Amino acid sequence: MVDNNAALEEIREYAEENNVPIMTEDGIKFLTNYIRKHNIKKILEIGAAIGYSAIMMALVDNEIEITTIERDEKRYLEAVKNIKKFKLENRINLIYKDAFDVKLDDTYDLLFIDAAKAQNIKFFEMFSKNLNPKGTIITDNMNFHGLVDKELDEIKSRNLRALIRKLKDYAVFLKENKNYETEFLDIGDGIAISIPR
Ligand code: SAH
Ligand code: MG
Repeated sequence: MVDNNAALEEIREYAEENNVPIMTEDGIKFLTNYIRKHNIKKILEIGAAIGYSAIMMALVDNEIEITTIERDEKRYLEAVKNIKKFKLENRINLIYKDAFDVKLDDTYDLLFIDAAKAQNIKFFEMFSKNLNPKGTIITDNMNFHGLVDKELDEIKSRNLRALIRKLKDYAVFLKENKNYETEFLDIGDGIAISIPR
């Protein structure tokens, strides 16, 4: 048996030391409560990193099954190790690929988008096809450390400005979406919850 709390703390420390942007404490708390409250059992996550959020979601209930995708080799290998440590290999299906090369036939109760922020519209459009009619799409990092609230000309780095512009576009895409209604929450690094209208 692993001591879950100590093992989770180790993952958080690894993330901190290696600059892996795992969910913040408030964010993960909100996400796991949402899963519990809405009786979510089947989850698709885009952006596993080292498996932290997938493990936290899987620990909510032992009927939960997760498919999660990661394209970075080092993070993928770390995720494999962490998932094994929690003996969750049978409930977390970790795919080592670029999400845009993954074709899934299954449907999910929750699509959790937490990968390359500039690609959010594409992830949403591609994987909302795999959502159950009553499913939820949750997107993390809507605030991107408060930068999405800033005027673009206040952001000095050109690459960062392009990224923030994309995140602003994504927020507009969600607000104007005819098929989904979205609530924006100032929790963690900003969370968007989209449900079919
Ligand atoms: N959900 C994780 C954090 C994910 S960080 C947690 O909270 O614990 C975002 C991850 O998405 C990074 O590890 C990055 O490598 C991965 N990523 C970004 N774009 C991707 C893509 N197109 N396909 C697969 N993984 C991607
Ligand atoms: Mg995130």
